[in-house]
Amino acid sequence: MDYEEFADEKCQSLMQIQEEFREKFGIDRYELWHYDAELELLRLYNDDQDQLFLKYIPIGTFSLKSETWMWSWYNEYAAEPSKENLLVIKDFGIKNDYHKLVEGTFSADEFDCWEFAAICFDKLDGIGVYRLTTEKLHSYLLVNKILEDDAVEVIKYRQQKVNCEAHGYSRDAFVCQHLNLEQSKGFEEAFDTYRGMQLDEDDDFQAWCSECEKVRLQSDGWNDESEEFAKIKLICEDCYFELKSFNSK
Ligand SMILES: [Zn+2]
Ligand SMILES: [Zn+2]
Repeated sequence: MDYEEFADEKCQSLMQIQEEFREKFGIDRYELWHYDAELELLRLYNDDQDQLFLKYIPIGTFSLKSETWMWSWYNEYAAEPSKENLLVIKDFGIKNDYHKLVEGTFSADEFDCWEFAAICFDKLDGIGVYRLTTEKLHSYLLVNKILEDDAVEVIKYRQQKVNCEAHGYSRDAFVCQHLNLEQSKGFEEAFDTYRGMQLDEDDDFQAWCSECEKVRLQSDGWNDESEEFAKIKLICEDCYFELKSFNSK
């Protein structure tokens, strides 16, 4: 079977399933979405009560500007661990000499994208496909599970509180007013941290600059004086680790 024939067949069968999927779970009812790449969790919602949590595998993205497709396994910025699952598709492409399944990125159109989604749906366990659309990018996600409210991923997601403009929802982190990404100012932490680490219930990511550390030591720890100097502020976990890698230099 040549690629076009193969892809067309898969596309046909996806289209039928898609309709059921959207109807059954009321997918189109939700106006807002948010996803957490590390948890591979997609949240569709109208408000905090009216929402649906889905588990997904990232298929790939279509850039509207350059009109190119990129498979998620090829995308170094895709943080989802399950992007590796897509290598099955690549292997399948190699065996059958289907170039579009083998190359990481290339010119494509929207029709191609749905074919890729359909092939992934067929080869990997899925219950439907969701397309996230922004001005510049369409991201195709293979949904493989509807998550219950007590699923580990949902609980973790809920523990994340900050809604950062750059990074979306993430856990709280606290830093002094002086830390920025322009000039390295040292990075003192309450305890050693790494991105994504588990925290005890009463622990937070906390960091301050070398100047704050001096004041803190002079005033025997955190008190009114050192806190006034530091003016600790709330930021997101991702911002925290950007500051950490910049200011630790
Ligand atoms: Zn400081
Ligand atoms: Zn952030």
